[in-house]
Amino acid sequence: MRFDQSKHSSVERIASWFITTETLSEYREPQRLFPLCEPLCNLHVSVVRCFQPRAALSIIGVMLMLSVTVVCQPQATTRSKTLDIYFVDTEGGAATLIVTPAGESLLVDSGNPGERDAGRIARAAKEVAGLKQIDHYITTHWHSDHVGGIAPLTRLIGVKRFYDHGPRSPIPPDVKPELMEAYRQVSQGKATTLKAGDEIKLKSNRALPPLRLRVLAADGIVLGEQPGAPQIQPCGKEFVPMPEDTSDNARSVAFLLSFGDFKFFDGGDLTWNTEHRLVCPANLVGPIDVFQANHHGLDISNNPALVQALAPRLAIINNGARKGGEPRTFATLKGVPGLEAIFQLHRNVRTTEADNTSPAFVANDEESCKGEFVKLSVEPNAKRYTVTVPSKGTSRTYQVR
Ligand SMILES: [Zn+2]
Repeated sequence: MRFDQSKHSSVERIASWFITTETLSEYREPQRLFPLCEPLCNLHVSVVRCFQPRAALSIIGVMLMLSVTVVCQPQATTRSKTLDIYFVDTEGGAATLIVTPAGESLLVDSGNPGERDAGRIARAAKEVAGLKQIDHYITTHWHSDHVGGIAPLTRLIGVKRFYDHGPRSPIPPDVKPELMEAYRQVSQGKATTLKAGDEIKLKSNRALPPLRLRVLAADGIVLGEQPGAPQIQPCGKEFVPMPEDTSDNARSVAFLLSFGDFKFFDGGDLTWNTEHRLVCPANLVGPIDVFQANHHGLDISNNPALVQALAPRLAIINNGARKGGEPRTFATLKGVPGLEAIFQLHRNVRTTEADNTSPAFVANDEESCKGEFVKLSVEPNAKRYTVTVPSKGTSRTYQVR
């Protein structure tokens, strides 16, 4: 189809921009650019088949203008009803952004102090997920790599509701008072204290499987225990307790997010002994689909008793280049029967290839990096989910167990 620009209207010129040859693959190019336009693109093809070229060009031009201006908005504003989880790289801190099928958002932790991590989280939220605000924000515990970014983040995007495991008084040496004060200011002292057994109510779409976020541990208390009186005793032949962890890690909020049969566990920085109480003698969590490795994959966490009881199909380690993702944790994860893949935010540069997952499943290879993220997206029927590593062009789909 030859096209003489001087003899045609602007509508036809727009159409000609898309149609310069008569191959169907060229007609489908707009679909590649705007994936939501498939029905229109198919219509474009049938119009060309049924009309003379000049008439077809006019019709297609009008349709393209409509599709570009009205239908083909960026996906962020016309999002599908998937449950999306973004694992934002905060260089060994934590920031996990959940966007529900109803478009509600929940951020778990805010990375390190300063502008870098807050900027990365805000970019993921606004530019990738298309959010205008964070609806819910959980601080799993008070360490700086989890709560440090919240004050700068609130200058970049609004945060509506705040949740944590409760204030510490007196403030222990492993918690920075200035970060707690910054948090108190941005939350205007109205944060909700989460306790084991609490739920954060998320809007659900009645046409889709139920969505539920349940807190399983908080402030050192595991579901079913009374404060100060752990009901669940250490058990299991192979259990070897570690010295009691008096840091704020052991008080991390741990929760299970379920969407239909899909289950995701985020335990913050829980450590060995508390992890054990979550699964022994009663397994209060598993089995699950996706495990965000506890404590960035450090080996004072990720007790094999917990990991084996969760029996995840997939693990995602939010490690840094030189923090977390340690060999013992890696071996524990690899030893889980049925585990299909491990994803890492960073290659652990301190260990060998054998102690890192496949390079295609690692978002950032070098210490000096751009802070690439990993995204997990559960289909609206909650039967399958896809994990993508945009920096590597990796996309893998898994069945919900
Ligand atoms: Zn941490």
